[in-house]
Amino acid sequence: MRGINGLHHITAIAGPAQENLDFYAGVLGMRLVKKSVNQDDPGTYHLFYADAEGHPGADLTFFPWTELAPPRIGHGLAVEVALEVPAGSLTFWASRLDKYGAPLGAIEQRFDDKVLPVVDPHGLKVALVEPGAVPPRAFTPWDGSPVPHERQVRGLYGAQIWEREAQHTEAFLTKVLGFEQIAVDNGLTRYGVPGAAGIVDVRESPDGRRGAWGVGCVHHLAWRVDDEEHQLEVRARVDTSGLRPTPVIDRFWFKSVYFREPGGVLFELATDGPGFAVDEDAAHLGETLVLPPWLEPARSRIEQVLPPLKSDTEFAARD
Ligand code: ZN
Repeated sequence: MRGINGLHHITAIAGPAQENLDFYAGVLGMRLVKKSVNQDDPGTYHLFYADAEGHPGADLTFFPWTELAPPRIGHGLAVEVALEVPAGSLTFWASRLDKYGAPLGAIEQRFDDKVLPVVDPHGLKVALVEPGAVPPRAFTPWDGSPVPHERQVRGLYGAQIWEREAQHTEAFLTKVLGFEQIAVDNGLTRYGVPGAAGIVDVRESPDGRRGAWGVGCVHHLAWRVDDEEHQLEVRARVDTSGLRPTPVIDRFWFKSVYFREPGGVLFELATDGPGFAVDEDAAHLGETLVLPPWLEPARSRIEQVLPPLKSDTEFAARD
């Protein structure tokens, strides 16, 4: 059985786009690799942050849906995003985040990792992680970042999901998607794919309430597949398992299939290619609004409703 290859991207729901850009590009120093729109709701931005080249597995993306209420945190939701940072960098990060007023927790130990919990400007829980065992990943530092190369966010480390009955999700992760159980620690069961970056920590929350989306929570977790053939293989297993995957949807920078895992968290299967440089010069990723070809005829209407965004130069100047 060919399983998935770890995380491709994570998408979350944000408040105002400018505040989102200021935090992820300005404070965390990630590169805005694509400024586009939600293809199902083109009056909303879709902002993509990653390493300099936008490698699969580096990419945290946001829909700024400012009209939504805060989420109801509960089972059936991914409740935290983990970003990998280099060994020995958490003290730097604690001081930088504190300087910009981000609410920080104390550095804690989870599994073999050192973790700095922080909350983004719109309530999303983010964990900066110095991994005990560094996962293999492609990473290109971003020269335009206000954060020095040796401290930059390496990419997505994983996510935490809450489940009412973890056994159904755990069987699905291992038997259908090809995950292995790695360890259990303090109420979390960790799953990963050998040789790939991107873990998922499962917490069982049998008495809690059902979660619901809102500003400041994860929208979906996207898992990597090599290509369309691999995607169809995994999609067929998801279908056979009794879940309801969508048809393949062309997202232009990759092909996507969506489904809810047995506990309700929205998952996606996303192909590695063609990638973010398919429609922009790699040196100028994210600088202008990019639309997939089928939305180009509506460009002027779309540009009228999107709020203008300023780049993050003030953060570079203040460091
Ligand atoms: Zn996605």
